[in-house]
Amino acid sequence: MKVRYSYLPQQFGKADSLWKKLKNFVPKGDFTLGKELEIFEKNFSKLVGSKYAIGVNSGTDAIKLSLKYIDIKAGDEVITAANTFVATVGAINEVGAKIKFVDCDDSFCIDVKKIKKAINKKTKAIIPVHFTGCVSNMEEIMKISKNFKIPIIEDACQSILGTYKNKISGTFGLTGAFSFHPLKNINVWSDAGMIVTNSKAAYKKIKLLRNHGLVNRDVVNLLGYNSRMDTLQAVVGNWIIPKAKEIATKRISNAKFLDKELSKINGINIPKRPKNVRHVFHLYIVFAKNRNSLLNYCIKKGIEAKIHYPTPIYRQKPFHSIYRKGDFPVTDEHAKKIISFPCDQHLSKDQLSYIVKTVKKFYESYEN
Ligand SMILES: *Cc1c(COP(=O)(O)O)cnc(C)c1O
Repeated sequence: MKVRYSYLPQQFGKADSLWKKLKNFVPKGDFTLGKELEIFEKNFSKLVGSKYAIGVNSGTDAIKLSLKYIDIKAGDEVITAANTFVATVGAINEVGAKIKFVDCDDSFCIDVKKIKKAINKKTKAIIPVHFTGCVSNMEEIMKISKNFKIPIIEDACQSILGTYKNKISGTFGLTGAFSFHPLKNINVWSDAGMIVTNSKAAYKKIKLLRNHGLVNRDVVNLLGYNSRMDTLQAVVGNWIIPKAKEIATKRISNAKFLDKELSKINGINIPKRPKNVRHVFHLYIVFAKNRNSLLNYCIKKGIEAKIHYPTPIYRQKPFHSIYRKGDFPVTDEHAKKIISFPCDQHLSKDQLSYIVKTVKKFYESYEN
């Protein structure tokens, strides 16, 4: 049996209703900003429960423009999680700030107990990453934000519709950054992202930053960027957004099944699934004994398992002179034992069972 990782052919292969929307859209020529994007922004802010939403060209730029809004610049420090995807770090680097890592815990989110120690006078923002779709402890993080007067930018790229104590990720901080990259839970056909906020001031300025600081065709109020979302992608976004809740529900139920069945296998440990969190499983990760052999075995058996990530970002080349192996022991430990299995909304029950069966078989033969 084959268990592929990417489900995009299934999601978009027979999207007749989307093609119809696109056929209506193209002759209008409304390709830059425009109506479909406004509708997508409204739809998305309604979905997550924020006052405002600003469509941008990627999740990376959603973070970058948020940092620009609070005027982060060279000499400033920004705290984020040591196990995050490179994009979080790239956005911080783009505004010239120093990246200050903090280790994660076994939920894959930033360890809130370790944040305070990383704060100093230069700390100008904290970016918790809701990694894998698990939502960080936002209660504690907002307390830290208040006490130290440091704004929070949530990297919610992996956690669309995830919640902490029933509040949706991305809506706690000053801004929340989302991505609609084809591999994210809500996806379009290319790069796209969204910034959500409840601050009118943030909304107004970030909207300008997104489009060269242009108030209108002839008036430039500040120097910004070309970070506009491609309006064609907004058409795709408007098509997929009514499916968002179902996508989350399906992933959660798939993960529940895998958690239950895989936990019975000697050799597999299920990571911490925090009680107050609705984890939306952008990534389904477990801890595995003899991980590399299991990975190879699964791939040989047709299951496209992966590792997110074999080398943590803080140990990659750009950080060699700043950090060294062992600085973030939980992240390091994870890198050795994590394995990701497909968990998406298009998997069949048979495919899920096949994952369980294959893992079981591996450990039976491994022990013999
Ligand atoms: C995908 C992702 C991003 C960036 O999104 P892009 O749209 O690819 O720029 C940022 N942070 C995390 C954790 C992500 O997974």
